Amino acid sequence: MKHLAILGGGPAGYVAASHAAAHGARVTLIDAKPLGGTCLHQGCIPTKVLVESCALLEKFKRADAFGLKISGEISADWTSLKGRFNEIVSMLGDGIDQLMADRDVTCIRGYGRLLDQSTIGVNDQTISPDAILICTGSRPKAQLGFNVDGSVIGTSDDLLNWSDLPASILIIGSGIIACEFACILDSLGVDVTIVASGARLMSSADKDVSVVLQREMRKRGIKVIFNSRITSLSHGGSGVEAFCEENIIATAERALVAVGRQPNSQDIGLERADISVNTNGDIVVDDLYRTDVPHVYAVGDVNGRSGLAHAASAQAKQAVDHALGRHYTMVRERAIPVAVFTSPEIAYVGRSEDEAKQDGLEYVIGKFDLRALGRAHALGEISGFVKVVVAKDTGHLLGLHAVGPHATEIVHEGALVIQKYGKAEDMRATVHAHPTIAEAVLEAVEDALGQATHKPLSNKRQLNDVLQYS
Ligand SMILES: Cc1cc2nc3c(=O)[nH]c(=O)nc-3n(C[C@H](O)[C@H](O)[C@H](O)COP(=O)(O)OP(=O)(O)OC[C@H]3O[C@@H](n4cnc5c(N)ncnc54)[C@H](O)[C@@H]3O)c2cc1C
Repeated sequence: MKHLAILGGGPAGYVAASHAAAHGARVTLIDAKPLGGTCLHQGCIPTKVLVESCALLEKFKRADAFGLKISGEISADWTSLKGRFNEIVSMLGDGIDQLMADRDVTCIRGYGRLLDQSTIGVNDQTISPDAILICTGSRPKAQLGFNVDGSVIGTSDDLLNWSDLPASILIIGSGIIACEFACILDSLGVDVTIVASGARLMSSADKDVSVVLQREMRKRGIKVIFNSRITSLSHGGSGVEAFCEENIIATAERALVAVGRQPNSQDIGLERADISVNTNGDIVVDDLYRTDVPHVYAVGDVNGRSGLAHAASAQAKQAVDHALGRHYTMVRERAIPVAVFTSPEIAYVGRSEDEAKQDGLEYVIGKFDLRALGRAHALGEISGFVKVVVAKDTGHLLGLHAVGPHATEIVHEGALVIQKYGKAEDMRATVHAHPTIAEAVLEAVEDALGQATHKPLSNKRQLNDVLQYS
């Protein structure tokens, strides 16, 4: 029986442990903290619990529009919101502990380090397994000059522990974490200003998606300052001042620093094992997630490949299968969906239109606005669209981009098609249930192929192309 030792018990580490033990390995899982990692304790779960409360609150505020009469004031209570996410986190944490017990995984609470290429030291123990998985994750990026003190200027970890919320906040950053918190805090009554270093929010998303997000944020009253690279934050006046060199760009009561994450690759003994990291500190791996040492793998945030929990888990399963000599399916990074729980939701998979262009691909675009869907009207959320990028010569789906309600669910249709190198025609031929938001996927695909059912008659040239694909 092979013995696997896993350093770190987040969505990479505990999933690796579960998968390995289920397939006959002896597994030792080491974590300095309760299992579940950033995802469970400071990331995906607490934030998404907050997102749901905010969504409900926003709906209640519009109760009249839904034909509902609610009397009295509806407001959010930060202490109770925290209580709810802590309860859910604790319940899910117990679930992971039970899963490990069910599979006879040996869990060690302690900070582990590589002592050499084959040995891990933790507490007073040394462990010499057949293979090692480094799954130590990441932490908020430290930024010189930002004076993060945790209480007035904080990271996402700090914010989730704040005992109250400020009247106003500066969010430094324009990525997923920054945008999600902007929507949450705005719903909870905080006056939000985002300071973005670039010209748009969510630069990893398709441009059209950013446009809708920015418009919806502006409508809600979230202020965004673009093209401003903050060089320092200081405690001044009655809160925080954000500087671009000598100039004060914005002020607020508190600041959230959300400028990215850095890998936990220091002080884990990599130098003793001759394992290299890149300039960002990410552990360098090959496509099998092997480090410089073939029986030592590094998966999840620590290898810098993705920064998403489900990607970490997928990498973990591949690495385990490889380590155990089992059949494995390579993770196709292009087919990993990205889900962003802003309001409106955003989700995408595959290439954006700009990426298709940069890669020199010939493509056609199909797009369908949600406002033409009955389900979007029933939900009272008509802003947004589904957009597909389709290879012009072959009809393969290159990318799917959605903004609007349930975007984070419907994106999986695109993920499946891209994973299977499928074609837009396969999606067109798939009957989509009515009335759903997923119908926008079908219509967008029809639009790319020539004519969407619920769009005015258009481009006949593409319609001719579809004949070629079928
Ligand atoms: C605010 C926020 C919201 C997010 N929302 C989402 C989301 O909605 N969807 C999504 O996909 N992703 C989300 N993420 C990202 C997601 O949390 C990470 O991608 C994911 O947690 C990475 O998993 P991991 O197992 O690689 O690392 P981690 O989850 O960071 O786990 C690493 C574990 O290793 C342990 N560890 C570190 N060093 C050692 C050591 N030397 N010895 C023992 N143990 C050690 C740590 O204690 C930790 O438990 C979010 C992140 C944040 C911060």
